[in-house]
Amino acid sequence: MTSEAVQPQVKLITITIETPDGKLPPARVGIPDIPMRMANLIPPMQQLCNGIVELAIRREVSQGATISCHKGCGVCCSQLVPLSSPEVFFLLDFVYALPSERRNQIEARFRAVKEAMEAKGLVERLRKIEDTQEHQMLAWDYFRMGMPCPFLEENACSIHPHRPFACREYNVISPPELCTDPFNKGIKKIRIPKNMTTATARLAAELFELPAMLIPMTSALEWATEHETYNRRTWPGVWLFNRMMEYATGADLESLNPEMNK
Ligand code: SF4
Repeated sequence: MTSEAVQPQVKLITITIETPDGKLPPARVGIPDIPMRMANLIPPMQQLCNGIVELAIRREVSQGATISCHKGCGVCCSQLVPLSSPEVFFLLDFVYALPSERRNQIEARFRAVKEAMEAKGLVERLRKIEDTQEHQMLAWDYFRMGMPCPFLEENACSIHPHRPFACREYNVISPPELCTDPFNKGIKKIRIPKNMTTATARLAAELFELPAMLIPMTSALEWATEHETYNRRTWPGVWLFNRMMEYATGADLESLNPEMNK
């Protein structure tokens, strides 16, 4: 008996998205109509995020602003970076796919950050965060520790094409020296009208039946491992992508409760 490999049917979906900054050029995305995990949505959403951010940057530049962010700065990479749960699972997949030596190095850096946070009592505080003010105090104390993101190398992002939405969406147009205090009220960030961290977090909340939450990068690998049963859940690919687009194109995407839940 012979068997033939059956190619999954790929459905071409045209994405058109309108933002207050204009319309993105229509993009055609091929989605295989097979069961998909939430983490599989992240690469196409990263492309969409890039397009939205580019339009927002164009808006600011056309009004005379200059982007202060540049390769070799990396000051903001010592902040607590918020991720949605699908991004956390995507990151875990990414780290697991690295050559073993590199993977060990990255995992060791995550452990070092966690140990430093534990020593300062920040892990415990993170578990108990109840409001925005507590979150801000914790974020400030974390920043003061001066622990760079495990992916920062020579002040540049070593995972630039795969970096989280929050990193793509963080673009500063105020003088760069202000960034040494991330809570300085003089810092001016570009407003991004469709926030993909929020969109993916909200879809995850619906489908995982969990509260809408953001997970700090520092806890990402640990959180993803502890919740790996969620990472195995699948939905029909085309349905999942269309549902994602409903969230991504929704009007109300600027805000998600800023508290990060571990
Ligand atoms: S993922 Fe990259 S851009 Fe984001 S905080 Fe880490 S090093 Fe910086």
